[in-house]
Amino acid sequence: MPFNHIAVNNIYMRNQMIKRKRIVWWHCLLSCLLFFLFLPSIVFSYDSSPSDFKKLISALEQQSSLYGWTDVKPKTISWEYYRTTKNKNPLIFTTFGNSTGNCVLFFGGVHGDELPTVYLMFKLAHYVKDNPALFKDKCIVIAPLLNPDGFLAASPTRVNASGIDLNRNFPTKDWQAKAIRQWIAKGKIKRYFPGEKSASEQETLFQMALIKRFKPQKILSVHSPLNFFDYDGPSSDLNSFEQWMEQICKETNHPLKKFGYFPGSLGNYAGHERNIFTLTLELPSSDPKRGGEYFQKFQPSILKFINLPVVGSPPNVKIINNEK
Ligand SMILES: [Zn+2]
Repeated sequence: MPFNHIAVNNIYMRNQMIKRKRIVWWHCLLSCLLFFLFLPSIVFSYDSSPSDFKKLISALEQQSSLYGWTDVKPKTISWEYYRTTKNKNPLIFTTFGNSTGNCVLFFGGVHGDELPTVYLMFKLAHYVKDNPALFKDKCIVIAPLLNPDGFLAASPTRVNASGIDLNRNFPTKDWQAKAIRQWIAKGKIKRYFPGEKSASEQETLFQMALIKRFKPQKILSVHSPLNFFDYDGPSSDLNSFEQWMEQICKETNHPLKKFGYFPGSLGNYAGHERNIFTLTLELPSSDPKRGGEYFQKFQPSILKFINLPVVGSPPNVKIINNEK
């Protein structure tokens, strides 16, 4: 009897072990499945959700119809977005071409009340998308609306939702010493407030991230309504760029003005400090209804800017051919 008892006990224990092993095995399998199922959201869990994106696209469609931009279709372009603004608007950008080098970055809507700049960038995105053969060996990155909170405000504003001028918020070397001091000296105009700290804004961090990721040789930032071209870039090759710019100014009948740069401005951060050819196009007005006219006027020079042959990576970039 005792012997039988032990045998039965042994069988019972073995069965229990097998059961436990099975449970552990199923647990492992389930955990693995869950892990791989949610891996994309772990890796890509940024702070903007698909519903925020849908809201932004429908708000953009509404604004476009309000401004008569019937040929702007934000839905038809494939956007990437990883960050949102204070008002939960995703900061969108799109990339074109096959090249991973020689990138050119386009920025629009840095100041939310400069309405046609946003139109120009959407139109450029449509144009590049519709003519892939022209840009297949290029790397083009377009961020058409850097300040969606300002642009979508009931009454559009230059500053973002925190009241900060995004073109004064870059962490340039002179920011700490000069940004706030200059702002006070110039009469504390709210539209130009650089923020309490540099790089405090998602919109600034977004632009910095694009520059870091794509290491562009060239940047074009569109503003309005000061009506000129301005540029900052590698001091070693500024002369060749200046010659090229003079030609472009003649062709577009748009003046060149050395506007200088400010503490915290893109021209200072990208052009002056990082030696990236940084061109600012100031459109003649902020009237959204003139977007079409401006796109027509500046499209050829924008394409020339894309094709301007530059070699090397920042900070060692150089124009190789001053073709007219
Ligand atoms: Zn501006």
